[in-house]
Amino acid sequence: MVSEEDLKNMSPEEIAELQRKQCIFCKIIKGEIPSKKAFEDDKIISILDINPAVKGHLLVMTKEHYPILPVIPLEVAAHMFRTSKHLVKALKLGMVINNATVFIANGAIAGQQSPHFLYHLIPREDNDGLDNFNIPSNEFKEKEVKQHLAALKGKIGLMMKEYKAKKGKEEVEAKSINQQDLAKFIDKNPKVKDMVINHPDEFKKQLEADPELNKMFAGINIPKLSEALGKLKK
Ligand SMILES: [Zn+2]
Repeated sequence: MVSEEDLKNMSPEEIAELQRKQCIFCKIIKGEIPSKKAFEDDKIISILDINPAVKGHLLVMTKEHYPILPVIPLEVAAHMFRTSKHLVKALKLGMVINNATVFIANGAIAGQQSPHFLYHLIPREDNDGLDNFNIPSNEFKEKEVKQHLAALKGKIGLMMKEYKAKKGKEEVEAKSINQQDLAKFIDKNPKVKDMVINHPDEFKKQLEADPELNKMFAGINIPKLSEALGKLKK
């Protein structure tokens, strides 16, 4: 056992490693604890809840240990949610029902009970005895509501900027790879090169008629390319 004193002397990385070692879901994923697996791929796993709310109650989790949603890498989170769309469809067909609750609690205060981020897919039917999440409806003054909205919008703007910068960087990298391929293609095809330099307008028409070629030159300004290649030739 690790004492409180030990914990105080541990680095955040060591604590995370300890949590991972003690995590019951990581043990399930490694097969050290038996489970009823419904689905598994390289990134995620879905098992039947050991204490199901109703028949067919599934848990979906990442195979890597992430304690909360915000620390899951973008592509893993995207894969998890994309896959869940199909899991819900399968759940409805398999359990012969039309509804399902997707329940996500992020953080202990929000009701997260496991140390390993996961969510519940729960088949639902009329009079199944399950409570729906009861959201109270309170009233705030107009002035307060405006303050809440301003606080949210400011932060959302910031987060979107971060997201766009990350996405933009990935796109720029992809584009530079495309442009390298394009440069190689032009070099290997003197006819294309000649067309671009000497007959850019005709080449544009040719692009419209040839989807493959068009794809290769997507987003490229032909008159500019023509000028640049022409200058290189001189
Ligand atoms: Zn875990």
